[in-house]
Order: sequence, then structure tokens, then C-alpha cells
Amino acid sequence: MTVHVVGAGVAGLVAALGLAEAGRAVTLHEATSVAGGRCRALPDGTDNGTHALMGANHAALRFLDAIGARDRWVEPEPEGLPLFDLADGSARRVAASPLAWRDPSKRPPGLTIGGVVTLLRIASGITDQPVAEALAKHPALLRSFIGPLTVAALNTPLAEASSARLGQVLRRIRGTGAARLLVARDGLGPDLVAPALTALERAGATIRFGARLRAMTMAESRVIALHLGEDTLPMGQDDAVILALPPWETARLIPGLRVPDRHAPILNLHFAHPGADRVRFLGVLGGLVQWVLVRPAGISVTVSAADAEADEPVDALAPQAWREIIATARAFALPGDWPDAPPPCRGVKERRATPRHGVGIPPVAPRQPMRNLALAGDWTWPGLPATIEAAALSGEAAAGTVLRT
Ligand SMILES: Cc1cc2nc3c(=O)[nH]c(=O)nc-3n(C[C@H](O)[C@H](O)[C@H](O)COP(=O)(O)OP(=O)(O)OC[C@H]3O[C@@H](n4cnc5c(N)ncnc54)[C@H](O)[C@@H]3O)c2cc1C
Repeated sequence: MTVHVVGAGVAGLVAALGLAEAGRAVTLHEATSVAGGRCRALPDGTDNGTHALMGANHAALRFLDAIGARDRWVEPEPEGLPLFDLADGSARRVAASPLAWRDPSKRPPGLTIGGVVTLLRIASGITDQPVAEALAKHPALLRSFIGPLTVAALNTPLAEASSARLGQVLRRIRGTGAARLLVARDGLGPDLVAPALTALERAGATIRFGARLRAMTMAESRVIALHLGEDTLPMGQDDAVILALPPWETARLIPGLRVPDRHAPILNLHFAHPGADRVRFLGVLGGLVQWVLVRPAGISVTVSAADAEADEPVDALAPQAWREIIATARAFALPGDWPDAPPPCRGVKERRATPRHGVGIPPVAPRQPMRNLALAGDWTWPGLPATIEAAALSGEAAAGTVLRT
């Protein structure tokens, strides 16, 4: 029996490793020449975009443990997230965990009793409305912390983002250690993708790059052949398939399946400028830049829900982003040289970074649409926004489905 896992993003890597370690023969088919999908290293080693994990992301951390890369993910800001407000020049640290807000110095500005009650209501998930509307009476809290958290976690503008989806996030980060923010120390290549491929090889899985699944032949509620590139692969009686693909590819392969069809872009600007001697992660309020990752090898800026920015030329965005980076670096006295002229900048625009997480119930993906077919992928996990954690959980679940079948 062979399990064919299609798509070597996080969901496919997790599913393939779980099955190979359980003793199954696994072939992982990936359309491109690299693994990682939307969480990958570009050919020059740059991350496609900054990826952060939280302590609550247990499935993602389990996977890092399984591939021996857990200690490559570091917590850059254990004292709370440094946030710089361009409007008034204020610089403060805010704890990501609501539990830590008992300490007034770690509270987001604008947090009042009324604001706490509103957050508890959002966390309960009993209503669903745009986050901007849900927090309309608490503009300072929205601006100082909940807004940036929402845009980062849901990759959706505040006027559209679902308060119920934000509630899922708030519930998950309330526990001790759950809101610890982790980033790859050196990059997604060395800290995620390369160790995952090594672990897969060690577990005996076969990986085929340049193998795009063009179509599937299906009969009597089973997949009977995979059409991969120029090849047709007949499926044995006991063979199984896991599609670990983005929604638009899954919908192309399974006609009639309802999938999320609206996506939001994420823009990353990577500046070739050596950063501080240790990894830092800082937030910026009121500008173009939302988050700045400072690594010794370079400085990266994230702009989520970047509907407008994704259409702007990088040359036009880089000078503004650099001015905001310098102001933030100075406000937090980051060591190093911060020249006024922007260093060389590379922009990466991921136009379909994640589905948009608007108000309403998203299409629910069937876990096992056919007897020998299981689905995985960040968009298939209903309890979370489309993230590494959702992808990892879906990969674990799909592997479990195949093992039980
Ligand atoms: C810039 C950016 C920043 C992000 N930041 C964060 C973050 O900070 N934290 C977080 O948790 N999440 C973040 N995310 C989201 C996270 O990257 C995704 O949720 C996750 O990587 C999705 O994994 P996946 O395996 O479900 O899908 P994908 O990564 O899309 O993997 C699917 C794979 O299938 C391959 N494929 C597609 N079609 C075919 C086919 N027909 N045949 C064979 N192979 C095919 C693709 O090439 C790809 O390798 C970010 C995403 C982006 C783009």
C-alpha cells in the first residue's frame, strides 16, 4: 500500500512524515522544485515572508520537534512585543497574552473594563461581526493592539475581519506560555524546510519535485488514477491519496467542492542590511509597516491584508518603509548602523497568501470526500484561521484518517 501525498507545503510535509514514521510507504508529489509552499525559502535563501508561531501552536511545535528543528525557533521578545506608534512617537511593550495584562506596564493602551468585557464577548464567539464594528467603542484598544493582532492573525482588513475568527485566536492565546511568539532564527529554509526533507528521507519517504497533479480519475467513490505531469499513476486497491493543496487547486481537482474563493495578499519587503546581533521582532502602528523582523542577515517588513500595497511598485514603498524602520529602531535603541538612505530592497508579494476571514461561516471541507482520498491544507481546518498551525493540524488529521481506513 502506498500513500500519495500531493503538495509539499506544511500540511503535506506533516501528513507525509506522520505516515512514513508509522511505517507506511509514502510518496510526496510537489508541483514546484521546492518544498514549503506558502512558507518557503526563495532561491537566494530569503523567506517568502516572515512567519511567526505562538506557544499555543502545539501541532506546529510537535512537527518542529519531530524534524529536530524546535530549538531553531527563538522567542525574540520575551518581555512583551515592542510597539512603536508613528503618530505620537510613543514606544512601549505590550504582552500578547491577556493574562499578563494584570501588570499595567504590559497592557495595551486604551484597555478599559468595557474593553475587557468586549474582548470576553469576542472570545466567547457567540456573535460574529466585523472586528472594527465589535470594537467601535474602544478605538484606542483597537488601534494599539487588537487591530494589529487581527490583521496579523486573520490577514483580513478590520472592516471585514470576523470577530468570531478573532475569538478563536483570543481563546487560544489566553493560557500561560500560549502567547509566546517564536520566529525562525536563520530562515524558513534552514529552520523548517531542510530539516523536514531530511526527516522524510530518513523515514523512508520518496519525494518527487516537478510533479504537478493535473487531474484525478475517479470511479465508484474512489480515486483510481493520478495524472501527474506527463505520467499516469494507476492506484492500487489499497493505495490512498492525500491532497494537501491550496483551495483553488483542490476545487479544480474535485469539481463541485465548495472552497474559500476570496484571498488576501501579504507583502514582505526584505532589506539587505545587517540587523542587530540577535533576532528582534517589533510592531509599528499608523504606517505602512506592520511588523519588522530584524535578523543579523537582514531586515524584513510584513504588511498583511495588503490589498492596496500589493499593487504598488516596491521602489515606491521601500523608502517609506525604511523611514519607519529607522524611527522604530531608534525608539527602541536597537544597536547597529541605521543610515538614512534605504538599502537594497526586495519585495515579495504573495497575492493569495491566505483566504480572507470575513464574517460568516466558511465552506467546510470534507475530511474524506472519497474512500481512498483525504483532504488537508490550512483552509480545511475549521477551528482556526489559515495558518501554519491549521496546516499542521490538518496534516495530522489526514494522516490519521488514512491510518484508520
Ligand atoms: C507571506 C506569508 C506570511 C505568512 N505568515 C504566517 C505566520 O506568520 N504564521 C502562520 O502561522 N502562518 C502564516 N502564513 C500562512 C501559512 O504560510 C500557510 O497557512 C501555510 O503555509 C499553508 O500550508 P499548506 O500546506 O496548507 O498549503 P501550501 O503552503 O499552499 O502548500 C501547498 C503545496 O502544494 C503545491 N501544489 C499546488 N498545486 C499542486 C498540484 N496540482 N500538484 C502538486 N503540488 C501542488 C504547492 O506548490 C505547495 O507547495 C503566511 C503566509 C504567507 C504567504
